[in-house]
Amino acid sequence: MSKYWTELVGQLEPYIPGEQPQDLQIIKLNTNENPYPPSADVAKAVKTFPHDSLRLYPDPESSALTQALAAYHGLDTSQLFVGNGSDEVLAHCFQTFFKNQKPILFADISYSFYPVYSALYQIDYRTVALNDAFGIDPAAYRQPNGGIIIPNPNAPTGIAMTLDTIRELLNDNDSLVIIDEAYVDFGADSAVELILDYANLLVVRTFSKSRSLAGLRLGYALGQSALIEGLNRVKNSFNSYPIGRLTSVAAIASLDDENYFQRCRSRIIATRTWLNDELVNLGFEVLPSSSNFLFVQHSSHPASDLYLELKKAGILVRHFNSARINNYLRISIGSEEECVALISALEQLLNPVPTQIPR
Ligand SMILES: *Cc1c(COP(=O)(O)O)cnc(C)c1O
Repeated sequence: MSKYWTELVGQLEPYIPGEQPQDLQIIKLNTNENPYPPSADVAKAVKTFPHDSLRLYPDPESSALTQALAAYHGLDTSQLFVGNGSDEVLAHCFQTFFKNQKPILFADISYSFYPVYSALYQIDYRTVALNDAFGIDPAAYRQPNGGIIIPNPNAPTGIAMTLDTIRELLNDNDSLVIIDEAYVDFGADSAVELILDYANLLVVRTFSKSRSLAGLRLGYALGQSALIEGLNRVKNSFNSYPIGRLTSVAAIASLDDENYFQRCRSRIIATRTWLNDELVNLGFEVLPSSSNFLFVQHSSHPASDLYLELKKAGILVRHFNSARINNYLRISIGSEEECVALISALEQLLNPVPTQIPR
């Protein structure tokens, strides 16, 4: 606290990201990073990058990257916006679209950055309860609102909405509906194909999860050009150059290696199926996941205990101490070896082998 802060800054409750331990020995299944490296083409692009050019500011419009992304999604460059991670894109979205008289709506169990942006930009919000199966009920969103934001698949549940549910939300509301597709590549249907049909749809995506590039910081939004123009007005009133030269080159290399992208994705989905079954065998309830993590609770062991015991065993998972989900753990899908190590650690914790008492 300082007398130089504004009152608003004193009141903020900033988002707390998952732990990033410096110890590389730790098995990190807590922030949904990809266990596999980015494409070898990304490594090559970085190694051969003309570093002299770093002297110069990058293209403020990130034209090459925007063109590559537009081509990838079959859209026009005017329907694409890029930012420094999708968190930055989301922050710009809140500021651009959500400063309305009516409260915006998001689920009671959802990405915990949404209330933080709302506080930062002083936007009113109301949470809408997920149903008992932790699903989205579009009828619950039929109420006056200044906008809606939902991750698909949802975080931290991993449960996906169908495109029919999304269409229903878009038809029922003339406010803007933002679909946060951070995890869509792991098994949900993308709403990108609805963009030309709906002027009130904006889709936000990231290179952090499915493209193994969390350290690069690149996110983007797709929507009709009037929406994108609004985002650019805010971005150009904030930072002309959110995308560095190196970021752009590395991201384009990643997009060009579709084959590697598909292989990584499939491998994570296969590991997810394996881990799901193993956890069920150990007495866990596992929510149906379309993402690169599982949201689980155990029939007899509290999540807070398991979290601490796993941490002692050198495995980090995520525990959210919030209403309705404080007995769940969110476990990122790691490599096959990491998931095997997790299962052996859990076997030991849940069924400890009795130690022999020496006579
Ligand atoms: C990880 C995540 C993001 C942020 O991704 P970055 O592009 O790394 O900023 C956005 N939304 C959800 C739901 C996420 O889980």
